[in-house]
Amino acid sequence: MQYYSTNKSAPSVDFKTATIAGQAPDKGLYFPEHIPVFPKKIIENIEGYSNTDIAFEAIKPFVGNCIPDDVLHNIVKETINFSIPLMPINNDIQSLELFHGPTLAFKDVGARFMSRCLSFFLKNEQQKVTVLVATSGDTGGAVANGFFNVPNIDVVILYPSGKVSKVQEQQLTTLGGNIHALEIQGNFDDCQQLVKKAFTDADVTSKLFLTSANSINVARWLPQQFYYFFGYKQWTDKNNAPVIAVPSGNFGNICAGLIAQASGLPITHFIAACNANNTVPNYMANHTYKPQKAIATISNAMDVGDPSNFIRIRTLLAHADKNIHTILSSESISDNITKATIKNVFEQFHYLLDPHTAVGYAALSNYLQQHPSKKGMVISTAHPVKFYDVVTPIIGQPIHLPSIVQSQMNAIKKSTLLPNEYDALKNCLLQLI
Ligand SMILES: *Cc1c(COP(=O)(O)O)cnc(C)c1O
Repeated sequence: MQYYSTNKSAPSVDFKTATIAGQAPDKGLYFPEHIPVFPKKIIENIEGYSNTDIAFEAIKPFVGNCIPDDVLHNIVKETINFSIPLMPINNDIQSLELFHGPTLAFKDVGARFMSRCLSFFLKNEQQKVTVLVATSGDTGGAVANGFFNVPNIDVVILYPSGKVSKVQEQQLTTLGGNIHALEIQGNFDDCQQLVKKAFTDADVTSKLFLTSANSINVARWLPQQFYYFFGYKQWTDKNNAPVIAVPSGNFGNICAGLIAQASGLPITHFIAACNANNTVPNYMANHTYKPQKAIATISNAMDVGDPSNFIRIRTLLAHADKNIHTILSSESISDNITKATIKNVFEQFHYLLDPHTAVGYAALSNYLQQHPSKKGMVISTAHPVKFYDVVTPIIGQPIHLPSIVQSQMNAIKKSTLLPNEYDALKNCLLQLI
């Protein structure tokens, strides 16, 4: 498989080069030259296949011959060594729980896969790589956990001070070692701007080999297809394929779902569920893409005003030559509705949603009201305990802390507080040499 840049001014590269580089040299995002066809016989008997075999089949064409089959099979197996159950909430909506990994959010899948690929690619090289990433909350912990102690890799994580939850902050600041957490006095978009600037600063890039570990990176983006297949595997009514609502911020997760669908996975429709950051819902309504400044909400991992992966969705749909509205709709859900949804679903169905999943649930139930013959699946992107301070006042009772979170909460925070100024970041980076 070759990958071209969405800016079309850089050479095509293979999976290894795209993984190591992160972004294309012309600042475009790498996109696969074609969408492979997933074997129909596996779709038709999907319950008979193990998750590892399904995931291996899904990712193999994208990796090409950059990783030997036995190594790739093992990477996939390690990536998904936790359960991903589909839980019924009521008659119409089921929840695909992606929060049983080490940092209790779906980003564990992409981060674990990417770190293992990168580690394989760097094994026999003298080169040291610095993974530089901005996080709105969950990326940081997943990347820190996925890359902790991986040889030849330093990780630098920028996060917006005071805008991530306590659990999120602990997960990304307490590991130490090769993981460096920078607490930026700004919002997520500021963090992303600083990271972008470092990637274009020849002073830095001549001394450090930088790569990204956000969903721009194909090795983090593409394995997110796996759980759409696992969701379908557990979906009992195969004659009425699910409508899937995806809580969306940077749009990497939903775009991976769209790739899985384009390769042959039966999915009726996608809903990109957004919080108050409504750039994409606005685009769907009036066809102009107008990036905005990020607005802080209670679903903070989705506080993105200019989603970087939306270009990939447009590229994919241009390939497919289909009207965007038949495949995708998008809705913006306010914090008030999000809170009411958490409360109602808890009281009526005894199921606790985290704020991100609640945005997805609300958008999905609105859609199903308009389309009563359909059934839906919400992608449950995080465990509610990650947003303890938001969720417990809404339901009026404490929630149990899983033991993994208890030990994370007791660990000591190690981070560097920095002003929202590029020179401050640059100094930190140059100290890593
Ligand atoms: C990152 C994240 C999202 C948004 O995912 P994107 O791929 O950026 O659209 C949604 N929910 C949670 C809990 C997240 O951590």
